Amino acid sequence: MKEKLTALQNEALEQVEQAQSLADVEKVRVAYLGKKGPITEVLRGMGKLAPEERPVVGELANKVRESIADAIETEKRILEEAALNEQLKTETIDVTLPGRPVQVGGPHLLTQLIEEIEDLFIGMGFEVREGPEVETDYYNFEALNIPKDHPARDMQDSFYITEELLMRTHTSPVQARTMGEYQGSKPVKMICPGKVYRRDSDDATHSHQFTQVEGLYVDKNVRMSDLKGVLNQFAKQFFGPEREIRLRPSFFPFTEPSVEMDISCKVCQGNGCSVCKQTGWIEILGGGMVHPKVLEMAGYDPEVYSGFAFGMGPDRIAMLKYGVDDIRHFYTNDRRFLEQYHEA
Ligand SMILES: [Zn+2]
Repeated sequence: MKEKLTALQNEALEQVEQAQSLADVEKVRVAYLGKKGPITEVLRGMGKLAPEERPVVGELANKVRESIADAIETEKRILEEAALNEQLKTETIDVTLPGRPVQVGGPHLLTQLIEEIEDLFIGMGFEVREGPEVETDYYNFEALNIPKDHPARDMQDSFYITEELLMRTHTSPVQARTMGEYQGSKPVKMICPGKVYRRDSDDATHSHQFTQVEGLYVDKNVRMSDLKGVLNQFAKQFFGPEREIRLRPSFFPFTEPSVEMDISCKVCQGNGCSVCKQTGWIEILGGGMVHPKVLEMAGYDPEVYSGFAFGMGPDRIAMLKYGVDDIRHFYTNDRRFLEQYHEA
């Protein structure tokens, strides 16, 4: 009986060792330790043994069963671990694969230019103000000395939302709003950049949407020479110290006198070329001394206060500065165009 048990044990252990899979191990378990297995059979047949032999055989049978069970458990763990390792190996992420590139955008060329202009004027003590793009007729026209029947309205035909609400045609209403807010209580020194709208037919030099930067300085004793000084400083810093400026008389309803400012042509150094239409000068902005009526409407006493205002078009400046031949490039969002001006 003892030899039979020992032989069973050896046989079982050998089979466990040879098992290739968890299924094989399970087969061995069922075969040797199952209810119909040989060991159970031995234990069942104990009754036929002599009484003194029963505990000895019983003990041995239990030991054999335990050692087979242990071997099965160990083998199971080994096989499970191997299976896990195999799974980890096949499911490994290959970190050497190149990633999908992230599309990184950048500020629009006009935004970059406007920020550059802002920096220059902040350096001269101006504050940056913003206002709504949907504006009232009052702030867009009336407060700027352009009553309903004024011919200047023809030059600024707009998109009306109601009789009294429109897409602003310039950023000047922000000046009127700021002066109205201060009510003559303190000086105003501000620039207002932003998008403006006009009912224009789009072509190479016209767009129904474009940008403006306007400036306003109202204080006691502000003179025409201050306007010239500020604009000269701006032109030299922005376009280069070698550029000359000149002021020509002009007309705007909200300034008196009014001027237009030209800078000397960079391409021909003032000698005349196709860029400057043979004049040697390129028009950059308009401005003038704030009309007394505009000051009065905003609560500033024109006998005490005076001021200057100016306005420029970043679109036009960008076209000149970067040689862009069509204003529509700024608004059609062709990335081949826009990407050329991304800052590194
Ligand atoms: Zn020129």
